[in-house]
Amino acid sequence: RRTPLIAGNWKMNLDHLQAIAFVQKLAWSLKDANHDFTAVEVAVFPPFTDIRSVQTLISADKLPLAFGAQDVSAQESGAFTGEISAAFLAKLECQYVIIGHSERRTLHNETDEQVAAKVTAALGQNLVPLICVGETAADLELHGPSAVPVAQLRAALAGVSNAADIVVAYEPVWAIGSGKAATPEQAEQVAAQLRLVLQETLGQDVADKTRILYGGSVKSGNIAAYMREPNVDGALVGGASLDVTEFGNIVRYLK
Ligand code: 13P
Repeated sequence: RRTPLIAGNWKMNLDHLQAIAFVQKLAWSLKDANHDFTAVEVAVFPPFTDIRSVQTLISADKLPLAFGAQDVSAQESGAFTGEISAAFLAKLECQYVIIGHSERRTLHNETDEQVAAKVTAALGQNLVPLICVGETAADLELHGPSAVPVAQLRAALAGVSNAADIVVAYEPVWAIGSGKAATPEQAEQVAAQLRLVLQETLGQDVADKTRILYGGSVKSGNIAAYMREPNVDGALVGGASLDVTEFGNIVRYLK
């Protein structure tokens, strides 16, 4: 009843010309393989400078791919040098925006409060926030598996009151880019706790329909095991999303 979502977070990779070539190849290889895009949704998250090109290509060729940005400003407009507003992203027909990725939290010192403000800004422009949460190796040792992700999700939803369309990604920091993926059981355990937070804060209906993704060293070889877990509804893929064949195989995990 929840449509699985396979999302590719390109991070700071692929310029706009490379993005055009990549998206064309991805769409055509999935179509060639008769991928059912209504059964498993596919989204890409290119750098800001690629988005206009990706939008143009996807709309001109009517490609069945969703796309979004990797970050957004919490501010509406004004003197915020270097920032990109949610309104700008909405105008580019972004459906999604990643918020609170661990690389933003650690390398750019983003706080839970900033993440919450960005979620509110995104929802204000009818963008679907893809909220990232996850514990570091030190958190895991100190607090166990779900305490930090649960607290991060509660904080991110602090300003959200009505039933909203959101996506949550559980990405243990120790699993990102490390080749040390969480086990499907670990991912399921935390995803189940995150769904309880959704139930508490936004109600049963929203909790039932919200997709919770796993991210961290997802590959074509391990995706199917995550997708068998009842509370895992897809994946947020980093490194493996930059290879058309590998990402296509992740999308086609049912095959
Ligand atoms: P990797 O798939 O490279 O581990 O990255 C995960 C990630 O951070 C996606 O947002």
